[in-house]
Amino acid sequence: MEFGLQGKVALVCAASQGLGLASATALAAEGVELVVCARTAETLETVAQQLSLAHGVKVTPLVCDLGSARDRTALLNSVLAQYPQGVDIVVHNNGGPAPSTVLETAYTEWTNGYNALFLSVMQLNETLVPLMQAKGWGRVLSISSIAALEPVAHLPVSNAVRSALGAYLKTLATSVAAQGVTVNTIAPGYIATGRLTTLFAHHAAQQGGTPLSQQQALEGEIPAQRLGTVEEFGATVAFLASQQAAYITGHTLVVDGGKRKATH
Ligand code: NAD
Repeated sequence: MEFGLQGKVALVCAASQGLGLASATALAAEGVELVVCARTAETLETVAQQLSLAHGVKVTPLVCDLGSARDRTALLNSVLAQYPQGVDIVVHNNGGPAPSTVLETAYTEWTNGYNALFLSVMQLNETLVPLMQAKGWGRVLSISSIAALEPVAHLPVSNAVRSALGAYLKTLATSVAAQGVTVNTIAPGYIATGRLTTLFAHHAAQQGGTPLSQQQALEGEIPAQRLGTVEEFGATVAFLASQQAAYITGHTLVVDGGKRKATH
């Protein structure tokens, strides 16, 4: 299907691997020009070159620690220096919080999580969304988690901060819909990335077994009986960015092979 995104410009955050890279790849395949950011210059430059070669689009790598407000400001300045009218699409993403138990989570883990997962999104939106409104077209896509909808025991910061983020994004969606800007959340269940490898190793260390046996036990609980692929995730991002998705806003699209139990 032609998604009508040729020539659009997207900023994809935390794009050097995993779900961010999957999002960047799917958008590049649709002819979207990219700005990609992550913390490590060398990895990011390799990713940018590979995406550009594979899909024939311009890809600009910008080093940014999304946990730093100063870095986020520098990122915005660099984006606007190159694209004075801003980007058409922003994909919010960041590394996930470390696993912990709710009562043993340190105060700084809560504040770091709030900064990395909530304030970073808000800060980038404050600059980028008014420019989308001025153009009458925009897509704000936020990579979240099913943890925001159905708390996961060992991820208290993710559960709480992403729930708050969902409320903020829903509020934003209603305030910018009339100017052609959609705001949607993609909530992955369990997509095969480096993050899951780390989580399976953590569970094995805590509960016994091996990372593989932990993965197999989880897959048994997923109606699709497997982890999702990064390609399946990327396709969801491309669809929500598409012209065809213009009337979908304020929505959370769960990508979880049927894992989430709630009916709404
Ligand atoms: P990942 O660990 O594979 O990749 C994370 C990416 O974020 C990397 O590119 C890393 O370089 C970048 N990053 C980390 N900290 C950063 C920072 N401070 N500044 C800039 N870049 C930074 O993780 P993933 O599986 O791709 O997950 C992405 C997000 O989605 C995470 O927040 C994760 O918790 C969430 N999530 C993932 C899944 C899943 O199934 N993979 C499920 C639910 C939620």
